[in-house]
Amino acid sequence: MEEEKYIKRCIQLAKNGLCNVAPNPMVGAVIVCDGRIIGEGYHIRCGEGHAEVNAIRSVKDTSLLKRSTIYVSLEPCSHYGKTPPCADLIIEKQIPRIVIGCQDPFSEVSGRGIKKLREAGREVIVGVLEQECKQLIRRFITLNTLHRPYITLKWAESADHFIDRERTDGIPAVLSSPLSTMLVHKKRAENDAIMVGRRTAILDNPSLTVRNWYGKDPVRIVLDRTLSLPTSLHILDGNVATLIFTEKEHPSQHNLTYIKIDFTQDILPQIMSILFQRKIQSVLIEGGRQLLQAFINSNLWDEVFVEQCPTMLHSGVKAPEISNNFSYSVETHFGRTILHHIHENKLK
Ligand SMILES: [Zn+2]
Repeated sequence: MEEEKYIKRCIQLAKNGLCNVAPNPMVGAVIVCDGRIIGEGYHIRCGEGHAEVNAIRSVKDTSLLKRSTIYVSLEPCSHYGKTPPCADLIIEKQIPRIVIGCQDPFSEVSGRGIKKLREAGREVIVGVLEQECKQLIRRFITLNTLHRPYITLKWAESADHFIDRERTDGIPAVLSSPLSTMLVHKKRAENDAIMVGRRTAILDNPSLTVRNWYGKDPVRIVLDRTLSLPTSLHILDGNVATLIFTEKEHPSQHNLTYIKIDFTQDILPQIMSILFQRKIQSVLIEGGRQLLQAFINSNLWDEVFVEQCPTMLHSGVKAPEISNNFSYSVETHFGRTILHHIHENKLK
């Protein structure tokens, strides 16, 4: 179908904004005149032009706009934010027909862009590839409806489901390959924040930065209840914005923000609500077992990546366990390594 073809192109364009648009949603737009694409655009970066603005700007012969259709994956905005409303721009440019993937779920906007366009006498079609368009902005919807970031859990395990040896010497079991390491760094770049537990911060001393991929470093999050983490750890080097959740009072310093929470209560809901306030739209949980299992047990996850290596460890730290009631699971094979991607749709 013609309409679906162009909305698909909108989704494809929108995805280019993955690493830079948060806390905004990813959006793509295409302008079509006489069966030909005359303009394209997507939301590149938070604070900059919306997809519709960029698409309209890309049209060379603007006289064609009067008989064009604009396709956009998400309802055009109708409120003044950092930029003027896109619905107004579409009206001003006299574009007669608007095809929209899905309505904006954000209460301030929802339905009002469509209403504005219809009141201006424009033909508006809503709900083309609606599910795909909602999937595209699932991070944005999760933050704004569930009031927590979109959560991705990630771990590597042996063929017999151990994530590490029982360690006394500090040397971890090698369960990753150069390719999977690169994928981990890509995931880091695609998330606003990355979190590890105290034990992982000490045993692995990870820097949690993006090195084998391009993109910005995520905000680092670590738990340190009694503030006993050695300051020599990479995670406390102050090179990257870092949040430290603790029960102690501690002044924040350059890039290191200490946040006091109540460790006698369930800490995950407290952390989620602080991340929501900070508009952190997505968080990658990289371990260890205890933290990953805590997220699973609290039903606080949206996606899981498990890298299963052919190596057998026979004993050690058991991999986290996840129940079977998720929406779908996909397996990808890299040589003898299997990457399981489990997804649960919590936005039904
Ligand atoms: Zn807009």
